[in-house]
Amino acid sequence: MSRAFNFSAGPAVLPESVLRQAQEELLEWGGERASVMEVSHRGKAFMEMAEAAERDLRELLAIPQHYRVLFLQGGASQHFAQVPMNLARPGQPVDFVLTGAWSEKAIAEAAHFCAPRVAASAAAGVFRGIPERSQWRLSEEAAYVHIASNETIHGVEFFESPDTGAMPLVADMSSNLLSRPIDVSRYGLIFAGAQKNIGPSGLVIVIVREDLLERSTGRVARIFDYACHAREKSLLNTPPTFGWYLAGLVFRWLKGQGGLAAMAQVNDRKAAMLYAAIDGSGGYYANRVDPAARSRMNVPFALHDPALDALFLEESRAAGLLALKGHRVVGGMRASIYNAMPEEGVAALVSFLRDFAQRHG
Ligand SMILES: *Cc1c(COP(=O)(O)O)cnc(C)c1O
Repeated sequence: MSRAFNFSAGPAVLPESVLRQAQEELLEWGGERASVMEVSHRGKAFMEMAEAAERDLRELLAIPQHYRVLFLQGGASQHFAQVPMNLARPGQPVDFVLTGAWSEKAIAEAAHFCAPRVAASAAAGVFRGIPERSQWRLSEEAAYVHIASNETIHGVEFFESPDTGAMPLVADMSSNLLSRPIDVSRYGLIFAGAQKNIGPSGLVIVIVREDLLERSTGRVARIFDYACHAREKSLLNTPPTFGWYLAGLVFRWLKGQGGLAAMAQVNDRKAAMLYAAIDGSGGYYANRVDPAARSRMNVPFALHDPALDALFLEESRAAGLLALKGHRVVGGMRASIYNAMPEEGVAALVSFLRDFAQRHG
């Protein structure tokens, strides 16, 4: 048996060369004569690796000096709560752009710590697009504006960083951080769970503008306080050491691929190939997202006859194409084609789509 093409939405595919390197040095890492999982996070070897990972991430995203990078635990969902804890006062309004399941969850969690408002919503269009910036109704008193830059479940993505003026923009980039260059200076805070496009689950990356760290001073428990984590260089307590290490290998891999501009070109080609196959299937397959907002990372699609879904999943799995079942909220299928999904994987999926439609026309 060999590795299949894995279209899972998360935890998701990782670069094979990264996994091989991790395998090679799993038992004895560097000169440590122990695994990276078995050494102190305060030892020299770990700290050097951790600093190199941050340097590489800063280089990849061209993160300005006045932003801090945190390597934390808890999953992106924890930060749905932790962001308002840190950036909003109790009862203060926070504006949300509601574009799908993940922004919806973020609103529900924020309600424990602030007064979330829906400044714009795509719910009426059953989450098939991004509301025009001119239609957003932002509140003057809001602590910040929250967006989910890529809705992993609904397959809707922001392609521009919206202009929110002096109001800090917070973005949940769990499923598209590192898929293309972004202008970090447009954001107040970016967070991303690692298991989509960065590394294993258990690690969350937070990129936060320094002045925003002052908002939480003395108000929240240290373990939830971004300013504390920043002061302690993400070593306030034991960080997810293996996740940090593996993310570091992924950053090095990305640099070797030519960085994020090069990744963006590959990602554009993969998405274009897959959407063209769906759109060109004469209605056999359909993706109903507004073409201007179609995600290049997560491609939901439906078969013309849902009675074929089970057969589609069985045959695709047998053909070495894994995890194409759509999220239960949307149904149908979904192909997640993150950075680590090679173009050959998407080409194999496209030829399977054609073949399946022919055989079960
Ligand atoms: C997966 C995902 C999350 C939740 O991540 P957890 O690590 O499971 O908490 C949040 N936001 C987006 C956009 C996601 O794709």
